[in-house]
Formats: sequence, C-alpha cells, structure tokens
Amino acid sequence: MSSCSFGESIGGGSIICGTNIKISSLVTIPLSECTKSVSTHLSYCHINHETIASEAELLLVRGGLYSSDISSLTVCPNHRHKLGNGWSCGKTCSLCSSKKSMPKGTITKDQSKYLFMTKDRYVGIGSGKTFECSDVSLIH
Ligand SMILES: [Zn+2]
Ligand SMILES: [Zn+2]
Repeated sequence: MSSCSFGESIGGGSIICGTNIKISSLVTIPLSECTKSVSTHLSYCHINHETIASEAELLLVRGGLYSSDISSLTVCPNHRHKLGNGWSCGKTCSLCSSKKSMPKGTITKDQSKYLFMTKDRYVGIGSGKTFECSDVSLIH
C-alpha cells in the first residue's frame, strides 16, 4: 500500500502505512471520509465531546495537525486506527511520566495545541495528566 499524506504530514513516528484488522477498508481514503463514531473513544479518554466534531478532526488533532486542511489529506487504515479509535490513553502522566500518581484527567485539545505551539512538545489529546500537571503552562 502506498503511503498516506496524513502519515507523511505527522512525520516520523512508529506507525507504518498499511491495513489494520480493525478497519474494514483496505485502501487509503481522503481524511474527510473518516466519519466513524468516536464517542466511545472520547469518553474512554475523557475528552470533551464538544471539542471534537468528527473522526477526521480527532485524527488531525491527534496527529498534531491542529489547523491543517482536512480536504487535502489522505489516510491509510493503519494510521486511521492507531491515531483514532485504537489509540491508547496510557496509564501514567504524559507530562512528568510520574508512575506514582494515577492520572487525574487528560490533555484537552487546547492544551495539546498549546504545548505543541509554545513548548514545541507533542502530547496527544486524551493523554493522561496528574493533578500536579494540570496547569500545562508550567510544563517545560
Ligand atoms: Zn498511513
Ligand atoms: Zn504529571
């Protein structure tokens, strides 16, 4: 399978373009056609449903492409699943990697964007954060 432009845009990473057993489609499709429900995933990762309007938007934000044009991107089944409904929130704090305290919340869309834009740090929406890390402006 040829690579997808979504995967190329998010750069590097460990996810290889291809098929995914959880996605029935076997081909790369326009990102705008990703319209599966993500509500279970949003609830599981404690993401405010009002901040993510669609599966395509979830993929954009999760990929760190906060303001990219959806219509210009294509996505393969593997990137679609692994950064979308199949993405794992993690059990530890994504900001201080504290294994002592359980996450008390998760990174919001605005926080993910803020960390990326001002701290040059990518933390996927829905990643765990401890109470001590809830003010992301203090994160280095
Ligand atoms: Zn891909
Ligand atoms: Zn923390």
